[in-house]
Amino acid sequence: MPNGLASSDPIRGADIASNTRETGRIRVLLPLALPGPLDYRGAAGPALRPGAFVRVPLGSKERIGVVWETGPAPDGGPDEARLKDVTEVIDAPPLDAVMRRFIDWVAAYTLSPPGAVLKMAMSVPKALAAETPVTAYLDHAGWKAPAEFRLTPQRKKVLDLLAAGPPRTLGDIRVETGAGAGVVKGLAEAGALEVHGLAPPSPFARPDPDCSGPALTPDQARAAGALRDAVRAGAYSVTLLDGVTGSGKTEVYFEAIAEALRAGRQALVLLPEIALSAQWLERFEDRFGCAPALWHSELGPGLRRRTWRAVAEGRAPVVVGARSALFLPHPALGLIVIDEEHDGSFKQEDGVFYSARDMGVVRGHLGELPVVLASATPSLETVENVARGRYQSLHLPERIGSATLPEVDLIDLRSDGPSPGRWIAPPLVDALEATFAAGAQALLFLNRRGYAPLTLCRACGHRLECPNCSAWLVEHRASGRLACHHCGHAQRLPAACPECGAEASFAACGPGVERIAEEVAALFPDARQCVMASDTLAGPKSFGDVVAAVTQGSVDVLVGTQIIAKGHHFPRLTLVGVVDADLGLTGGDLRASERTHQLLTQVSGRAGRGDQPGRVLIQTHMPEHPVMAALATGDREAFLAAERAERQAAGMPPFGRLAAIIVSGPRESEVDATAQALGRVRPRVPGVDVLGPAPAALSLLRGRHRRRFLVKAGREVALQPILRDWLAGVKPGKAVRIQVDVDPLSFL
Ligand code: ADP
Ligand code: ZN
Repeated sequence: MPNGLASSDPIRGADIASNTRETGRIRVLLPLALPGPLDYRGAAGPALRPGAFVRVPLGSKERIGVVWETGPAPDGGPDEARLKDVTEVIDAPPLDAVMRRFIDWVAAYTLSPPGAVLKMAMSVPKALAAETPVTAYLDHAGWKAPAEFRLTPQRKKVLDLLAAGPPRTLGDIRVETGAGAGVVKGLAEAGALEVHGLAPPSPFARPDPDCSGPALTPDQARAAGALRDAVRAGAYSVTLLDGVTGSGKTEVYFEAIAEALRAGRQALVLLPEIALSAQWLERFEDRFGCAPALWHSELGPGLRRRTWRAVAEGRAPVVVGARSALFLPHPALGLIVIDEEHDGSFKQEDGVFYSARDMGVVRGHLGELPVVLASATPSLETVENVARGRYQSLHLPERIGSATLPEVDLIDLRSDGPSPGRWIAPPLVDALEATFAAGAQALLFLNRRGYAPLTLCRACGHRLECPNCSAWLVEHRASGRLACHHCGHAQRLPAACPECGAEASFAACGPGVERIAEEVAALFPDARQCVMASDTLAGPKSFGDVVAAVTQGSVDVLVGTQIIAKGHHFPRLTLVGVVDADLGLTGGDLRASERTHQLLTQVSGRAGRGDQPGRVLIQTHMPEHPVMAALATGDREAFLAAERAERQAAGMPPFGRLAAIIVSGPRESEVDATAQALGRVRPRVPGVDVLGPAPAALSLLRGRHRRRFLVKAGREVALQPILRDWLAGVKPGKAVRIQVDVDPLSFL
């Protein structure tokens, strides 16, 4: 096999009994934060080969782990007599060599215990057990509702969910629709659902690579041809698919997926947010005749288990998922696509701090397979890799069909702003009016959830803050609450100011999307509007409902956060208004300009994707800022060149390396003691600067006090060994945690 993979034939538990009694030693990696694999007694053989899942004793418990290495330990390991026997070899496909190397690689790069990375690859321990019979339900194709059948909203939700398959258990259906067993059983009795007595042998249909999609434009066809060649070569390559918004990148990488399927390989598509998937899935089904396997946090437990297992057994030909899908145990991966590669949500900042974009490239390298990065606004890192010749690049300069890129104008809030207490400037009001008059749709973008980001007492100036975080509470008027966006703390508005006791003295400061919606309602009482933010939409289904409503034209104006910025295709949407373009530029983050440019380009890209030309109005206090200038002129290259020059001069990524060390704990004195101890033994290596310790911008988060170091080095410096030696020299206080963030995106 080109991947150098072991075949996925299961190993029977019975084979092992005789082997484990023999002498010999193996090392088993457990999904725990231990420094490395542990030694057990067992003779390597067909059953106990590297990659096999095994149950082993650990202390008084048993744990499932993976045979990591066989043969003698490099340092001898513990005494033979003290070794314990492997209890059982699990009947599951072994973790292949590529995946094992990948786990070791990610662990070494991110300075995480390898077991913590393995844990991500073993995220569904139940999937290791052989399938027990379950009852699963599927939509009954061709069923005609009798006259007396009532389609209640709950029933409709269930039917919609099951229409696309795969079959789901009662538990899955409940998690994904909220409908109880009664609703499902009623539908089954009515004949609307098929009941499968056993889990069907393959939960996922095989996408048909030759089911036809739209006729590609010449630019698309050229790009698709290059990607097909890359897939056929079956070797490591990285290709940037760089196309303006609406240029049809998705259809292009679908051709690469088709080619992987023809070669009998699996394809993995990573999308930044599951919100993207409603329209994406429809298009996938149009192109391939069936749905792919999905992998995201809202998957029900039964489907999660069967999906993991199907992937491990090579029976899920295409998986589309959030970043964690990268750690699924694909045995014969032939392609990785990372759509919206610049997106910050590919970075996990918890547990193992990793970038799914960067680790996806590593996975491609180790597995010797092509990686496609798609974006209209590629990251500077990726652009630089193209410039250095490490990545290929394919360009789609034009929108599909008659659509053209929208015209972008700036509204200078210093001279043309709205009256106090209002947020939509007169030119934008006029544009909205014209849009509605023409029967078209508008989108107002503000990247802030809730009603107001700050509530203060008019009498004493006291600001309402989260008790667990150094952050203000955000008012959510629709739900009558104040909420912390960092820890989820929620409370009612107090009757009196906790500081001065004044009653009914609170004032809401600044706007969130709810407040903009209120203003729109006051300005245009007849306009049908919809607010889209992660807290107003629960789950991908209701997101899909809103997307459908917009597509069908039953919404005139969308007011939303970044959740609507990307991926969606609303042909009747002609006007985009950016309420506060400066929002992301404050705070002085390394990538503030780059990120703002990306986000606003994406949002702007929602306008004019159909027959009617689009228009974008950007409200800003800084029209002369390079980001605003670039958006107005559409000159991305000039912006990137300036950004690049600045980073190069400062030795910042991608021209230098960064790592952050975050020290946190419930007691401030302990946190400070650990931070200072680290500071005393900081690495003194030429070319490596260590800044800190300093209180983090979020110096209190979820009740933990936080201090940060920032380590800065040249590109040629291998930071990991330096960091490892440094951290090994300090023992943190009892409840103190030291986290390492290599290549940090967040500096909070
Ligand atoms: P991008 O991801 O580059 O922003 P999309 O892939 O979303 O663009 O494509 C924009 C729209 O154009 C989608 O509705 C898509 O179905 C449609 N489309 C793409 N390629 C073609 C084509 N060759 N012919 C007709 N429609 C196309
Ligand atoms: Zn909080």
